Amino acid sequence: MPKTFDVAVIGAGPGGYVAAIRAAQLGLKTVCIDAWKNPAGKPSLGGTCLNVGCIPSKALLESSENYERALHKFADHGIGLKGVSIDVPKMQARKTKIVNTFTTGIALLFKKNRVESLHGFGRFAGAAPDGGWQVEVTGDGPSETIVARNVIVATGSVPRQLPGVAIDNALVCDNVGALSFDSVPRRLGIIGAGVIGVEMGSVWKRLGAEVTILEAMPTFLAAADEQIAKEAFRAFTGPLGLIIHTGAKVLSVTTGEKSVLVEYEEREGTRHRDEFDRLVVAIGRTPNTAGLNAESVGVKLDGRGYVEVDAQCRTSMPGIYAIGDAVRGPMLAHKSSEEGVAVAETIAGHHGHVNLDTIPWVVYTAPEIAWVGKTEQELKAAGVAYRAGQFPFIASGRARALGETAGFVKMLADAETDRILGVHIIGPFASELISEAVVALEFSATAEDIARIVHAHPSLSEAMHEAALGVHKRSLHI
Ligand code: FAD
Ligand code: NAD
Repeated sequence: MPKTFDVAVIGAGPGGYVAAIRAAQLGLKTVCIDAWKNPAGKPSLGGTCLNVGCIPSKALLESSENYERALHKFADHGIGLKGVSIDVPKMQARKTKIVNTFTTGIALLFKKNRVESLHGFGRFAGAAPDGGWQVEVTGDGPSETIVARNVIVATGSVPRQLPGVAIDNALVCDNVGALSFDSVPRRLGIIGAGVIGVEMGSVWKRLGAEVTILEAMPTFLAAADEQIAKEAFRAFTGPLGLIIHTGAKVLSVTTGEKSVLVEYEEREGTRHRDEFDRLVVAIGRTPNTAGLNAESVGVKLDGRGYVEVDAQCRTSMPGIYAIGDAVRGPMLAHKSSEEGVAVAETIAGHHGHVNLDTIPWVVYTAPEIAWVGKTEQELKAAGVAYRAGQFPFIASGRARALGETAGFVKMLADAETDRILGVHIIGPFASELISEAVVALEFSATAEDIARIVHAHPSLSEAMHEAALGVHKRSLHI
């Protein structure tokens, strides 16, 4: 007899493991199936986010930022340092330790919440004779088929491939290789000036590489507010020193013994050949739904491989749900987790819901970038009348004390109702500051509401307060 469950979750990334924990908390008998193995060949929970995404990239960003501070910023504080150096293997070991703490932590959380954890690749094996769905799990040993009344597909995403370019994660890398260099490349090429491109570019540039980013689109960080993207472009190509070619068409990538030759054409038709010690391809991600056998049980995928779902993450088949990077919406860990919670609650008979309009975005560069809600260009395109308030960090006492004065907070509010429609930040700790704006949007706050709330002094949050005052042209400090 196969083991039976109320819920089987396929995938233990931030979508799947959170869904499994929440389902178990709600009293549902739950199994979580995951195929990931770490470089040591051991099963490792946490998916892309913990193993080769959010967590390791933030660890390296922090290390490289500290290195840069020590080299270039401490002197301003009167701190003199001699012989500053970077030990890349040690920095990587710190990153790996952080990753392992969290991946093993999920195994403990599963134990605590009585989630059964199965290592192996899950695929649909048809409807079960007595209701529910059969899922075959193929791991290191003989395969096993389990039966679940509900299945949550949380299989995440994989890097989009550039046709004709083979990833070896030695010379030509995706995110996996880009996070694991054992030394600082002299010349690093990156294809794609998206979030991974600018975050990984920042890490290796700060550590001493010459970094060239080739971006196909004429613009840069297309999802961000245009004014923020322009400010970011100035900061990344100015003080940070990234070389960014927008409107660049990659013509060929040739891997040699120790270097990679990239041929590309710029907008005006000029051809270039650049040789790099390493190349990172970061041109987006695609849903990881191949081999799942989803269509054989009637689950519809769209033309790009995303599982088709409604607002509650229900697929075309009863009892089968899909969440996270495998479905529509932004590919962000917190979006995956929130969908996981919502689906577990729906299965348990509650009213799970995720508001895709209030998902915050963060780019962990220096300055950081964060936003929630509509951009100015979106409001213009939709013909919405709005008012904007803006406050620069250079006028913030706390930002001055930190020595991080680049950037600003911009608030967009409906011209008639004053309801906040979007908040865009470029500057220090934007990742933390954005939470106030998310709460404001969730509670349909007006700019006036934020303007009337007391913000601590001196704090970076005063910039949010002043931007709200600015919506009504009554900022106090500019
Ligand atoms: P995943 O995390 O991809 O997990 C899916 C899991 O399912 C994997 O373990 C996979 O092995 C497993 N799996 C797939 N198919 C099967 C199968 N058939 N059977 C068994 N197991 C299967 N997002 C942020 O919000 N903030 C960040 O700072 C951030 N930084 C990032 C940095 C990088 C370099 C990258 C690449 C991504 C980053 N992201 C970030 C995006 C974030 O990692 C993803 O949005 C998030 O991991 C998606 O979660 P998920 O649970 O949907 O899928
Ligand atoms: P992305 O979608 O952010 O950026 C990809 C970039 O590559 C785009 O600017 C695109 O125009 C460009 N591009 C596409 N094809 C190209 C080509 N042939 N030549 C040159 N440029 C090309 O994707 P990403 O940077 O690979 O990251 C994938 C996803 O991971 C992101 O969408 C994001 O959701 C997630 N992520 C999030 C964070 C974060 O939240 N801080 C960090 C890293 C990754």
